[in-house]
Amino acid sequence: MNINNETPVFRFAPSPNGELHLGHAYSALLNYDMAQKIGGRFLLRIEDIDIERCNLEFEAQMLDDLAWLGIKWDDKPRRQSEHFDDYSAALDALEVEKLVYPAFMSRSERKREIARFKEGGGLWPRDPDGAPLYPDADRKRTPQERREMINVGKEFALRLDMNRALDDLKDDLFWHETGTGPEGETGLVKFNALQWGDVQLGRRDVPASYHLAVVIDDALQGITHVVRGRDLFHATSVHRLLQELLGFSPPVYHHHDLILAEDDRKLSKSARDMSLRSLRNCGATAADIRRMVGLTPA
Ligand code: GLU
Repeated sequence: MNINNETPVFRFAPSPNGELHLGHAYSALLNYDMAQKIGGRFLLRIEDIDIERCNLEFEAQMLDDLAWLGIKWDDKPRRQSEHFDDYSAALDALEVEKLVYPAFMSRSERKREIARFKEGGGLWPRDPDGAPLYPDADRKRTPQERREMINVGKEFALRLDMNRALDDLKDDLFWHETGTGPEGETGLVKFNALQWGDVQLGRRDVPASYHLAVVIDDALQGITHVVRGRDLFHATSVHRLLQELLGFSPPVYHHHDLILAEDDRKLSKSARDMSLRSLRNCGATAADIRRMVGLTPA
């Protein structure tokens, strides 16, 4: 679908924190095929805001694997770690609107608070990825309390005040889905950002979280079509909300099947699932990979 009557723009956005596996190959090839089919451009984005886990060696290996698969990308890949200023500016804008607040609780403090709550027999809410929602306490602090905590050097992250952000909206938000969600959702999908609670948007050392960076980069790169795994379907609700708050128009989304391991697990870099590099070393060809992930020959 061509939303602006301009050339469609697709992107593949790997994180260089390990080697690409068959799941990435499927996502990249499907993306590329879809772009080719409608005469779109195809961009690469290196999602390396997690500077501790990402490195240039993995990045070089990824680019080599993608080229080997037969993928040709337009322009120089955009490396997120080179654009922290863009993310900081967006965070500043949200801060002016009082939509973000400093969140001081460390992981262990959060765990303790949640454990205490559970002892009382309560069920702590979790986000769609299964992570516990961020507790309320920091959102309720007065400006003076916040200043004092910052002045004594207490570390903090920046989180979205979800209730406030939703209160400011005039209408529900929707996105156009050409793939399917976990429950078969397709077509016009209504967002549900509330289920994510006060998502983290930035840290002190890195002024961006995945959610913030992905939304800003999709807008700055002029992406019209986001093709990615179904594991990111629910995150689209947060992305749709951030687009609205930052004044960006949404791309069309296509969430695709995940390639699973033999025991039906999601493939992962950390579980050292068969990487493209090892498949190549074992003599697999790009055509073999297309066949393995169920795509027609190039
Ligand atoms: N960097 C993300 C990943 O490697 C992809 C993000 C996206 O496509 O929105 O899973």
